[in-house]
Order: sequence, then structure tokens, then C-alpha cells
Amino acid sequence: MRLSNYFLPVLKETPADATIASHQFMLRAGMVKQDSAGIYIWLPLGFKVLKKIEQIVREEQNRIGAVEMLMPTIQSANHWKETGRYDAYGPEMLRITDRGDRELLYGPTNEDMITDMFRSYVRSYKDLPQNLYHIQWKFRDERRPRFGVMRGREFLMKDAYTFDIDPEASRVAYNKQFIAYLNTFARLGLKAVPMRADTGPIGGDLSHEFLILAETGESEVFCHKDLVDMSAPGVVSAADLQDVVNTRTSLYARTDEMHEADEFAKVPEDKQLTARGIEVGHIFYFGDKYSKAMNASVQGPDGKPHNVMMGSYGIGVSRLVGGIIEAGHDENGIIWPKSVTPFGAGIINLKVGDEAVDAACEDIYNQLSAAGIDPLYDDKNDRGGQKFARMDLIGLPYQITIGPRGLKNGVVDVKTRATGEKQEMSPQAAIAFISEQFV
Ligand code: ATP
Ligand code: MG
Repeated sequence: MRLSNYFLPVLKETPADATIASHQFMLRAGMVKQDSAGIYIWLPLGFKVLKKIEQIVREEQNRIGAVEMLMPTIQSANHWKETGRYDAYGPEMLRITDRGDRELLYGPTNEDMITDMFRSYVRSYKDLPQNLYHIQWKFRDERRPRFGVMRGREFLMKDAYTFDIDPEASRVAYNKQFIAYLNTFARLGLKAVPMRADTGPIGGDLSHEFLILAETGESEVFCHKDLVDMSAPGVVSAADLQDVVNTRTSLYARTDEMHEADEFAKVPEDKQLTARGIEVGHIFYFGDKYSKAMNASVQGPDGKPHNVMMGSYGIGVSRLVGGIIEAGHDENGIIWPKSVTPFGAGIINLKVGDEAVDAACEDIYNQLSAAGIDPLYDDKNDRGGQKFARMDLIGLPYQITIGPRGLKNGVVDVKTRATGEKQEMSPQAAIAFISEQFV
């Protein structure tokens, strides 16, 4: 992409209403524009990152055998009345009436709708298990939308729903999602810690929130230090599933809501970590809560009807854009992990109009494009300082700077955004260096 052809409205000043780094940088880097409280326009740069995160989430869902579908944003109130949630949900639900005075709502989540869908088709345990997901916009009329996309009113969520014949089978489904979450967040460059969450009336230990540690997080967290640095499990065989989940759930990790000081005190003192965290995912087993209310049963091996056992599994896709920035930035701007960077590298032309420099830039641009790096070429006629600041702000992992002086000596500058390290090398070596970083 040539910058002269792109839409990147960067701001010099930090907007006064943005108090945390991710919100400030997303506004300054021209990633989003607030349209009304908690509702954002995703500008091209932000949209690109959002889509990359979405794709990683999708690939990890597909890897565990979850099947993608798409439910609408607008739901009928009828499903919610059946489960009793229409009244229970409260003012966070955006309620709408259509021209025929029918009650609709903008979905804050989809358990009720998908349970209705399920019961329309599935009659037998032979058609189980099912693991279905969609990635769709949600609306919750939050009391205090804030921190940009981190607590929006309209936000993008991946939500999966599992259907099983009994609690044991449901546990397998839960464990698979648990592993998928660890792998998803690791690919996003994040250290997310699963923390025991409230299961409500169901009881048991089958609910976990996944939090990334960040000073600006809204939750206070208490956890065993070793959990933070455990690497992603990768593909886990059916035989190892429970063991792998056990190693992650046996160590203490709770948010303030579930914290028990005397339990935490049993963690060796040098392993006790108290920090703040951002909830990026939440998985939940709720048994027959909805299937019972909606009469969603299947015939079991015993020939009798069984309410189907369910779980739901959310990931805050749009919240993750902010979360990744909270985890990766410096005073100059964003530092994207390679997996979700909007462009692989930036090319800075220090003297637009100089024939040799233009030609060298074009050549590098073409070669990097052919190598699949998807570079952003700053071909605008701005001052060098402005170009450097803009490139640092938008946080691409590598920058190549081409100017007349270096070019005379056959070299360009390559900067690694995360470390600030600069190297001089030939244009050919620069292309090879950057290409190698993405294999
Ligand atoms: P929170 O406690 O942060 O309000 P929640 O527990 O109500 O979140 P869930 O119903 O568990 O949220 O939704 C699944 C995921 O969706 C959350 O883990 C979070 O990442 C994301 N999410 C929830 N609410 C918002 C929001 N207002 N803005 C952006 N993302 C959100
Ligand atoms: Mg939650």
C-alpha cells in the first residue's frame, strides 16, 4: 500500500478524553473514530488489525473442530422471554420495536437464539457433540463505556456454543476450548492467564476467564507467577487433554471477584503475583440452564429424552485490539506483534522526487510485496521527522529508510520497532532480512 493512496488520519495531539495508552494510540494512529459513546468507526488501519485477530481466533476454533456459522445481530425477544432473560438482562440490553410493534433486541450474546435453533433440528444423541461458533457484533448498553474499544457498547465477539449428551462429554468440549484459548492468545503475542471464574447456580469449577496482565486492566488479579510464563500447549491429543488443563488450573489464579486470601497465602511467597488484568475471554459450562427452559432435548442411548448439556465460550475480538496495544507499546506508539501487524514493514522515502531514491523505494516496495510482506510505502512529501514519528506511532515491526546519502554508499537503514535497533545494509540484504522475519 502506498501511503499517498491510503486513508491514515494520524493525530499529533493526544485527545483529552483518552486516558490509557491503547485508546490514545488507536485514536492518534487513525485506527478508530468514536461515532457516539462506545460505538466506533473502524478506519482502514484498525479494521486491518481487527480482521487479522479475527482470523487467528477463527483458525484456532477450526483447529479444535468448532464449526463457523453466523447468527444475526437483531434477535426476537421471544427466545429471551422463554428463558426468562428478557427481564433479567436489565438496562444493558438495547430493546427495539419494529413497525408492527414486535419486540426485538440487538443481541448482547446468543445462548437463547442458538438453543432455539438447535432444538429445531437435533433430535438424537447420535448427532452430538456439536460445537458451533460465530464472530458477530454485539451490543451492550454499558453504564460506563470507556477505554476506547476495550469497553465499548458495540463490540465484536467470537462466541461458541457446545451441545453434548452428558456433563462428561461437555467437559471434553470445555477442555478443547480451554486449549484453543491458550493457543489463540499465544499467537496474538499475549500471555493470557486462565482464572477461575464464578459458575453461578451450576457450581463446580467449569468457568474460566482469560486475562492478560496490564497496569490499566479493570480487574485486580492474584495468581501463581508460573502461570504467566507457561508456553502455549499447541495440539493436544484427546488422551492428554485433561492433564494439560489440570496443569493450568491447579495453580492459584483468581480475579478479585473470586479471590480467597487464605488460599492465595498457600502459594509460596516468591511466587505470589498481584497485578491488574484485562479480561479477553470467558468460557462457561452451564449444563441444562437453557435447554431445560427451552425444552431442547435429544433422545439418549436409553431411548429417553435428555436435556442437552451446553457451554458457551466468548472472546472479545475488538477488545483484543486494545489489549494487544496495552501489552505492546512505548512512549512513541504501538509495537505490533508480527501476527497481527496491519502491514509487515514500512518503507520511508526520505526524498520523494529524487530519481534514484524513488527508484530504490519502488524496487524495495515491489520485492517486499512479492514476498508477501504487505509493506506500507511512505511516498508522501513530508519532512523526515514527521515520517519517522508517524511510522513509530503506527508500530509496524520493521522500517526501511531510504535516503540519498545512504544510497550513494549502497545502503539503507533497517529499524526493528520493538528494540529500536538500527542496521545499515544493502537494499537486497534489507529485503532478505525482513522476509526472514516472517517465515
Ligand atoms: P466484563 O466483565 O469485562 O464486562 P463480561 O464478563 O460481561 O465482560 P462476557 O459476557 O464474558 O463479558 O463476554 C465475553 C467477552 O467479550 C469478554 O471476555 C470480553 O473480552 C468481551 N467483552 C465483554 N463486554 C465487552 C465490552 N463492553 N466491550 C468490548 N468487549 C467486551
Ligand atoms: Mg466475562
